Amino acid sequence: MTRVVAIDGPAGSGKSSVSRETARRLGYGFLDTGAAYRALTWWALDLEIDVHDHDAIASLLADFPYSISMDPDHEHMRVGEVEVTDAIREPRISLNVSAIATNPRVREWMKTFTRQLVENSGYPGVVAEGRDMTTVVFPDAETRILLTAREEVRIARRAGETTATADVTAKSITERDAKDSTVIDFMNAAPGVTVVDSSDIDFNQTVDTVVGLCTGGNA
Ligand code: C5P
Repeated sequence: MTRVVAIDGPAGSGKSSVSRETARRLGYGFLDTGAAYRALTWWALDLEIDVHDHDAIASLLADFPYSISMDPDHEHMRVGEVEVTDAIREPRISLNVSAIATNPRVREWMKTFTRQLVENSGYPGVVAEGRDMTTVVFPDAETRILLTAREEVRIARRAGETTATADVTAKSITERDAKDSTVIDFMNAAPGVTVVDSSDIDFNQTVDTVVGLCTGGNA
């Protein structure tokens, strides 16, 4: 059985970079589960399928040719032969991804798919980050963490990563979180999930805290 470190959090909480560095330090694989939702969105837009049409999107799932590497130092995502690693970060994807992520059949498919990816990863453990890792996909994981940060901190971090203005970034983060929260609660910790608030600590301190939780303080 692959050991699982499940990490959830809202947009801009730093969960991708913290999870990636945690995986490096532990010698684990790193799985960005939002990437599959983004890649499915990319594929639907490429095929000119309406992302709000739940039946049409669900019918894509059986043949979704998605692959992802879990090496924290060489990440790539592909849809068929197309490398989509950068394309799935574009604003048009962030704008449309919640319509796909609120489709119940997509969520059910992603749950099974994610579990299979982790089980067949070839790593002794995987740090899996997303919105429903601690609650739905890996509720029995050895380590479950909700990584949060105050809203203004998350917006400032994301604004530093993009060329968009702070206003546009704020709007896109809050709107996406609001839409995503209609189907999954990633703002409040479920019972047994440890909250790590990164608002007032730096990146390394956050990683130290997370690694400490994974190793029982013996990192
Ligand atoms: O983590 P990231 O912001 O890249 O995720 C993109 C989108 O994928 C989220 O806005 C959410 O709609 C969806 N998602 C999800 N469940 C996950 C991971 C991501 O619904 N476990």
